[in-house]
Amino acid sequence: MASLEALARNARALANGEVVPMTAAETEVARQLTICNACRYCEGFCAVFPAMTRRLEFAKADVHYLANLCHNCGACLHACQYAPPHEFMVNVPQAMATVRGQTYADYAWPPALGRLYKTNGLMLSVALALGLALFLVLAVMTRGPIWGAGLGGDFYAIFPHNLLVGLFAPVFGFAVLALGMGVRGFLRQVKPATSGAAASGAAAAEATHDVLRLKYLDGGHGDGCHNTDDEYTLSRRRMHHFTFYGFLLCFAATSVGTLYHYLFGWPAPYDLPSLPKLLGAVGGVSLVIGTVGLWRLNRARHPLHGDAAQKPMDLGFIALLFLVSLSGLLLWWARGSHAMALLLCLHLGAVMALFATLPYGKFAHGVFRSAALLRYAVEKRQPNPIGLGAD
Ligand code: SF4
Ligand code: SF4
Repeated sequence: MASLEALARNARALANGEVVPMTAAETEVARQLTICNACRYCEGFCAVFPAMTRRLEFAKADVHYLANLCHNCGACLHACQYAPPHEFMVNVPQAMATVRGQTYADYAWPPALGRLYKTNGLMLSVALALGLALFLVLAVMTRGPIWGAGLGGDFYAIFPHNLLVGLFAPVFGFAVLALGMGVRGFLRQVKPATSGAAASGAAAAEATHDVLRLKYLDGGHGDGCHNTDDEYTLSRRRMHHFTFYGFLLCFAATSVGTLYHYLFGWPAPYDLPSLPKLLGAVGGVSLVIGTVGLWRLNRARHPLHGDAAQKPMDLGFIALLFLVSLSGLLLWWARGSHAMALLLCLHLGAVMALFATLPYGKFAHGVFRSAALLRYAVEKRQPNPIGLGAD
């Protein structure tokens, strides 16, 4: 309990721009980066090392920035002559992962909800989705049997459109607000530590390009990163791409469907070859492939790469994305059948659980990492403050 209060206190202080002492995890990152700064063997792997060479010391904001710039590829662990069992015990991916998880909680908005990062695990995510689906099933059953309730194939005959908007819009709006406030706090903290310069158009374009290509998952040499051992693999990059673009396509399908409904008066469901259906079908299949791949990679991950305490959060997010995409595809297949109403409840329960946990789960990784890449693109355009290392 004391640690949770300390977490909330630190988060409030960070939001107010006050000085907060380094935690043990942050001190450990600073120690390891001081060794790396003398060694610099890993300079070509990712953005962390060029950013590191612009510093001689690592204060809290530097550590937060660099931890979110790291994407946990594992390359610098497998290359390191000072990795365990060497007495220097340098394990940058693991040290960074521990701090990264801490930063999600530190910058969470509202601060008191930062503790949800510690509880947002696999069981909770799946239980929340199933609990919400059960609630919807019971709501439908107050009007009659659920089996066969969707025979007409009309979603809005089961849940009226306005009811769905009233349920989902506030939860989604809160998720966007919470994530926006969280990343705003993070940027306020790291901006002075990354030159303080404003983002130019060129820097924003480069950061966007790096995010969309997941540039650094190629290991800096194009062969990929590590997962189970010291072999290079492009699987992580590919599965991240399937998941990332699958999510974006599904989001685009919902957005286009909303425009169809309000602008043109064309209500769902839509059939092929309509744009929402095309986007949703390709996005759904892509999400299923990506989440199955990420699940397998996560389960096989080398134990020294990451922070084991964050695995339940990672798997919970993957499981929710998988449930959303699979139930969406099944709903398409079962439209107008006896099972449609049941599958609609499952799909809506999974989507609601995903929205509710977005600001306090693994999704934050994509948002904070994008912000760190933006600051990197800004900082590298400024003169090197110590003039010792090259970018
Ligand atoms: S991770 Fe190891 S090899 Fe790489 S720069 Fe740091 S100390 Fe050197
Ligand atoms: S784990 Fe990968 S991304 Fe992170 S610092 Fe090492 S090389 Fe860079």
